Amino acid sequence: MCGPVRIDRETPGTVSEHSPTITMALIGPGVLCVFGLAFLWAWVIERRRHYLLLLAAAPLLFGLGILIQAFYWPPATVPNALLSALLYTLAVLLAAEAILSRSGRRLGLPADLAILAVILGGLWFFAVIRPNLLARVYIQNFGYGFILLAAALRLLPLMRGRPVDRVLFWVLLVFALHFFPRTLLTIGLSAPVGPRAFGGSLFWHALHLSLAVLGAALATAILAAALSDLIDDLRRERDVDGMTGVFNRRAFEQRAGLLLADERAAPCTLIACDLDHFKQINDRYGHGAGDEVLKAFARLLLQGCRAEDLGGRIGGEEFALLLPRTGQDRASEVAERLRTALSRLSFPAMPRDAVVTASFGLAQARPGDTLSQLLARADTALYRAKRAGRDRIVLETAAPEAGRRDPAPSLSPS
Ligand code: GH3
Ligand code: MG
Ligand code: MG
Repeated sequence: MCGPVRIDRETPGTVSEHSPTITMALIGPGVLCVFGLAFLWAWVIERRRHYLLLLAAAPLLFGLGILIQAFYWPPATVPNALLSALLYTLAVLLAAEAILSRSGRRLGLPADLAILAVILGGLWFFAVIRPNLLARVYIQNFGYGFILLAAALRLLPLMRGRPVDRVLFWVLLVFALHFFPRTLLTIGLSAPVGPRAFGGSLFWHALHLSLAVLGAALATAILAAALSDLIDDLRRERDVDGMTGVFNRRAFEQRAGLLLADERAAPCTLIACDLDHFKQINDRYGHGAGDEVLKAFARLLLQGCRAEDLGGRIGGEEFALLLPRTGQDRASEVAERLRTALSRLSFPAMPRDAVVTASFGLAQARPGDTLSQLLARADTALYRAKRAGRDRIVLETAAPEAGRRDPAPSLSPS
């Protein structure tokens, strides 16, 4: 990664004499082009992920840099070296920023510009003021190594992430580190003299081999991570209720079924929740107000539960919360917290004194229970809560409250 190193042509423009060399030089840019287009395609599918566009630009710029060096355009040594170096450096910075931005991090534009200025300034100095090919080799290779190493270190937290994130971290780290020993071992302390010797040197061949192998590994790891992000997005859209952010009924049922079948999760308790007189909220204050209530209740549901708890919207204004390793007594405390938190909320679209309430029915899973059996028992308890006056919690094991009637809507009149 230093140049210019042209394809060894005696007479510029006579490509045919050395077409195998030219073909070899086109392989790298061709592969990079494929990766660039793959990232572009991923971006077209998911335009919200801007880092995919950076990832598309990086290999394309890098490939262009190789072509500029290989075809020796512009044909003067210094402009050629600086132009290709500009493209390589931009490509490395874009790749680093893209990988970081995927995880919500960045090096930042000032740092990018400073790095670009240092690398290009150094190259210009050792190309124009004090020509020194070896110095340029070290500036470029160590420069790119440091950029990628900085990105890899900022991604250390990914080590606690998914396998695809861990693979990406390690491939990036190895790619970053390889710039140092490879350069030291293959070029040492003296650069071959002349473009022909440089193009045939161990350094040049090792450079191309390592870039081809490790570059392809890095691009594949990023592509795999990007595709797994896309799949996660699609899964989330499939599983999560768009308005409230909790699981929809299908996803809730699927996950709850797994939890109930897992002996380590026992005892499990299901809380069935239903907003009281919700139709009246819609009728009095509008559907938008009703939607706000649903969102607020879902927020309470998510805030109040542990990572292993499972909350879902299983009907229009009906929610369910499945608590693993939780008996009815502790579950009723959770339900009580939800009940009081909801009744204390006020909503902009409703009068300040309007109180929104919900009723709760609890059932603890018995060995061998299916979700529908458990849900049916929790629903029976919920029905009793409604009949007993709403805004309350009823356990399936609680004694029936004989003769109690729903006294009045808990929703204050407007
Ligand atoms: P109860 O206390 O007995 O549960 O009475 P309720 O009015 O809450 O129950 P009902 O089943 O009579 O009405 C539920 C209402 O919920 C009817 C439906 O229009 C409304 N609803 C369902 N989904 C949505 C939604 O996504 N947004 C809004 N705003 N309303 C919804
Ligand atoms: Mg209701
Ligand atoms: Mg209902």
